[in-house]
Amino acid sequence: MNFKNAYYLPSGRVFMLETKDGFPIECTEMRDVKVGGKQNLEVRESLDAHVIWNHLDDYENKWLCTVSTQKGCTHNCKFCDVANLPFKGNLSQQEIESQVEAIIKYTPYVNKSNKLKLGFARMGEPAHNLNNVLGAIVNLPKISKRMDKDFNWLPCFNSILPRKTSQGINGFEVIDKVLEVKENNYNGFLHFQISCNSTNEKIRKELFGGADVLSIEEIIKYINNKDVTNRTITLNFIVMKGVEVDVDKLASYGLNGDKFTIKLIPLNNTNNSQNNNLETYANYHNYEDLKALECKFKEKGVPVVVDAIAKCEEAGLCCGQLAHIFVDSDKKEI
Ligand code: SF4
Repeated sequence: MNFKNAYYLPSGRVFMLETKDGFPIECTEMRDVKVGGKQNLEVRESLDAHVIWNHLDDYENKWLCTVSTQKGCTHNCKFCDVANLPFKGNLSQQEIESQVEAIIKYTPYVNKSNKLKLGFARMGEPAHNLNNVLGAIVNLPKISKRMDKDFNWLPCFNSILPRKTSQGINGFEVIDKVLEVKENNYNGFLHFQISCNSTNEKIRKELFGGADVLSIEEIIKYINNKDVTNRTITLNFIVMKGVEVDVDKLASYGLNGDKFTIKLIPLNNTNNSQNNNLETYANYHNYEDLKALECKFKEKGVPVVVDAIAKCEEAGLCCGQLAHIFVDSDKKEI
């Protein structure tokens, strides 16, 4: 992988790398913004980078990184700007690991982190490249050792869980294989995050651009019969106006706090979401609506996290947006 460029956010950077066959690949490194109470509102709404800088957590406590798993994506999710990129296949395990090495190499001042959360979540659906992604996850401790770093890894496998992957692997088998690595290699400290977005399966499928995915009911019932230690499984909802998120429906499927956590996040301001007229249910201005939804889940005894990107960070650097600069440019043909 060749280094092409780095783009800066107040909390970190998006690196643009390039595969040998000329495909632009994004990976990121960010620090967490650590605030509570009133300051939380100030940080979310501010357009002043200094406000973010004043609240950044130490790398040693938490470092948030992401890598891509495919050259583009086969799916066409209505809220994601990777969807409109051309698809040129899977990244090899080595190409995935090269991104990890590049992030470490270009951040040479970070030698220790008690929680290095690495999301396989930038460009691509990792389930379609399962063996290479899981191979890279298993190898993370070797990479940091080789580079003489003291990192406590928290890999994060983010998936829409296709019913059958392009390599012919059944969605339930994907769950099994991820849980196997979670429990056997990471003592349960692997973050398995499943994209849900709506409890109405018809709408959910439309949001995923027609992808045939496992239903939320199937996912909950299947995982309820599995051993899940330490980190619970996250059901991720990008909350959008007019899109159903029905807590009672989830409870009727057997959603429980021993196995699951719910994550509620606002919709990012992507080009694709605008073109598809999707609107976020809540963001910086009406964050309290998101908190109200959080309460409904808490009443059912299910842990919830709400996550909101600061306004200042929404600067055209969402997944796939930088790759578009290269792909859409007349100078670049891939
Ligand atoms: S959200 Fe994930 S699966 Fe959907 S288009 Fe984007 S990268 Fe692909």
